[in-house]
Amino acid sequence: MECPNCLSSNIRRSRRRGPQEGTALRFKNLAPYRCHDCGLRFIAPADEATLAAAKRHLTVADYLGLRGWARRVFTDQVALGLLAFLVMLLLGAIVIALAMGWFDPLLSRSTAPAWTPGASE
Ligand SMILES: [Zn+2]
Repeated sequence: MECPNCLSSNIRRSRRRGPQEGTALRFKNLAPYRCHDCGLRFIAPADEATLAAAKRHLTVADYLGLRGWARRVFTDQVALGLLAFLVMLLLGAIVIALAMGWFDPLLSRSTAPAWTPGASE
């Protein structure tokens, strides 16, 4: 692989910047690189070794591009537990909202007269 600016082969993998870039690039099998000769940071297809390593062991934290303390805290178990908790919370909120009448899933029969077949004749 070569730098698109100066065509040097002295390039290194660059760290992904934040969860959004990490997820977006991984999804497209791309990775950020930096040229050590001209300093250009550029996006290129991830090399085979990187892809193989990613497939061998890809945790949720890897996928989100986390590192440091966030990576230690955000293990797969925590991520799945958090996801399950959020789903339960959402379902609970929907049940409560329906029970309390905060929104009408049938979009308020009272405001508009119901359409009946043959009414226009
Ligand atoms: Zn360069």
